[in-house]
Amino acid sequence: MSDPIVILGAGPAGLACAHRILKRAPGIKVVVIDKAPFVGGAGASFPWKGHTLDFGPHAFHTRGSEPELLVRDLFSDQPDILIEGRKQVHVYLKGQRLKYPLQVSETLRKFNPLLSLRIMIEFAISSLFHAAVSIPVENFENWGKKRFGPTLYKMSFGDYTEKVWKTEASKISEKFAAEKIQGFSFIGLVRRLLRVGGQVTEPYYQTWIYHKYGSGQLYKKLGAEVEAMGGQIILGAGVKSLNHAEQRVNSITLEQKGESRELPCSWLVSTAPLPQFVKLFGHDLPFPVRHGASKLRYISLILVYLEFEVERISDDHWFYLLDPKFAFNRVTEQKNLSAATMEPGKTVLSFELTCRQGDDYWRMKDEELFDMAKADCQQVHFLRNRMDKLTDYRIQRVPDVYEIYYKGFDQHAEAVLAFIREYENVVSIGRRGLFLQGDQHQAVEMGLEMGDILACNATDRQSRIDGFTAKYVRYLDSY
Ligand SMILES: Cc1cc2nc3c(=O)[nH]c(=O)nc-3n(C[C@H](O)[C@H](O)[C@H](O)COP(=O)(O)OP(=O)(O)OC[C@H]3O[C@@H](n4cnc5c(N)ncnc54)[C@H](O)[C@@H]3O)c2cc1C
Repeated sequence: MSDPIVILGAGPAGLACAHRILKRAPGIKVVVIDKAPFVGGAGASFPWKGHTLDFGPHAFHTRGSEPELLVRDLFSDQPDILIEGRKQVHVYLKGQRLKYPLQVSETLRKFNPLLSLRIMIEFAISSLFHAAVSIPVENFENWGKKRFGPTLYKMSFGDYTEKVWKTEASKISEKFAAEKIQGFSFIGLVRRLLRVGGQVTEPYYQTWIYHKYGSGQLYKKLGAEVEAMGGQIILGAGVKSLNHAEQRVNSITLEQKGESRELPCSWLVSTAPLPQFVKLFGHDLPFPVRHGASKLRYISLILVYLEFEVERISDDHWFYLLDPKFAFNRVTEQKNLSAATMEPGKTVLSFELTCRQGDDYWRMKDEELFDMAKADCQQVHFLRNRMDKLTDYRIQRVPDVYEIYYKGFDQHAEAVLAFIREYENVVSIGRRGLFLQGDQHQAVEMGLEMGDILACNATDRQSRIDGFTAKYVRYLDSY
């Protein structure tokens, strides 16, 4: 029997890939390895007292596509276990709580009329000017001002971008905007205004499904099916090195519970963070690859969970704290995705704060972070009123969660990806493996598609892998 296909990472991408290979080609051996002691990657959940918490609530966006069908299929024998809903989101902007996507009438009504007028005039001038004159876009700030005018850009994207990424917007690539911000035009806005209603901003994914007992249950079930089909999942195991020769990886050296062992592989699929993965190839990496990997950076996350002894605080799933006066970026009330994840009579809000590993925030004591979350609560009217019901808190520090799209990141990523492409039996996929900004359904989609490619023995496999990269790595112009 030939060597197994080895998959690094039991997150959404890795498990979906394993599942698809085993489904399409039952005879193939598949081994999934994760350094974490649990499956699910960033989509996992963990218990806290009587609650089940996600690492920041993870709703699975639905589009009627293959990832959604896979999730529905996993639970087809438990019809009530998947909850469906539409996103309920508000933003806090200029001291106002506004529904998101922003509604024309509410925005105009709640903002100071002079501010609204200024936004409209600037928006009109920049839209018309940039339609007539082509000026190259060099960074995120440039991109935003050109599209929206300086005031609207700063209020709705600029300040928030700098708060999340802890860097000036002029250092962020304009390609970040293409990944994250849905387009909207001046003409579209005027049309909506003339009909006096409708949305100012375009919606992101609006509908979701969620497991009654937390996001992590999706991946526990997916992992269980992988094992039921004969796949092996090894948790809590690090990869020490890749043993390669003549552009093939022949085996990997695993380290688990202080012991090393070698695992041969026919293919190696990595969903590990790209810069960390490439370093496993050894110390003699070519300079551009080493340099590229060192320039691919991440922002880390601190989650402050506040428990309140009330049924619910709000009806929102997410609310964004856009004003710079807030320390935290975003708050979620997971109970609004599924009440069954919370102890009866209680709710938990999770406050998200981005930082860099080792910076002042990262090193703050738990009590200091708790005080900061309480200070933000004091600035939100419906939280301020509930502070007497605050019963407990928990802090979770998650290193390196979000890929930072600094200017030039695409060139660095390409240097690393090009090196990996030279190996005939190695692919890097998923959000982490391709340095993308995507969500769970996109990671699952990539896993399924790569699973399809590897399960077949077709002569066009290499061109299909190239097509895969072109489809998902949208930030590379060369494809
Ligand atoms: C706070 C937060 C909130 C989010 N909310 C949502 C949401 O509401 N909806 C949504 O759809 N998406 C959301 N996302 C995005 C979602 O988490 C990711 O898109 C998804 O988890 C990516 O899946 P992945 O398999 O590519 O990577 P990951 O989930 O990161 O999985 C990678 C796995 O690889 C493992 N690994 C890493 N290095 C190694 C190694 N060397 N060897 C072995 N294993 C390794 C890791 O332990 C991990 O298990 C959110 C992300 C964050 C951080």
